[in-house]
Amino acid sequence: MVRRSTNVHTRPVVPASVAGVTRNACAYEVGLHLEEMLGHVEGLLSSCPGGCERSCTKCMRHYGNRFLHPRLDRRLGLQLLRYARLGEEPAIAALEQQRKTLAPLARFLELEGWNVKTAGVPLFAAPKAGGAGVAIGTYPALLSTEAAGKRHFLSGTDVVLLPDYLVEQDLPSAYQELLRH
Ligand SMILES: [Zn+2]
Repeated sequence: MVRRSTNVHTRPVVPASVAGVTRNACAYEVGLHLEEMLGHVEGLLSSCPGGCERSCTKCMRHYGNRFLHPRLDRRLGLQLLRYARLGEEPAIAALEQQRKTLAPLARFLELEGWNVKTAGVPLFAAPKAGGAGVAIGTYPALLSTEAAGKRHFLSGTDVVLLPDYLVEQDLPSAYQELLRH
């Protein structure tokens, strides 16, 4: 049986070198588990067991973040994680995907008195009252406007590129952004 000493002078002392090795070993262990954990999180974000569109209680939602539920987006989370882990920047979505993202904005624009069509571009909108139309595309919200402008297949002065997250989360603000161009 080991008897614990209460005397500070007889208490066992861990040599600094041993403490250092232990600390490094712990950091290594944490590193191993962190990688494992991040791998698990990436799997969860890329393929939610609940099959949700953006977030649900099977992936990102829990009681503690209940006030943020409407804003949680696992695709955005996945892009951020992959950038942090691998330095991988999110790609510009294909034309068809952008068209799908912009469909609610197209309906919004029609209600606001715009003519919209989608021939050859994700979305083309022109005011019914007349005036130049614009081609509209989306880009991953994690990219800066400048980076998106350089990579997007749409370019020119009659083009408006909008962050996908803005279009999905806040149509009136996306519309205001469009009017600013
Ligand atoms: Zn989910």
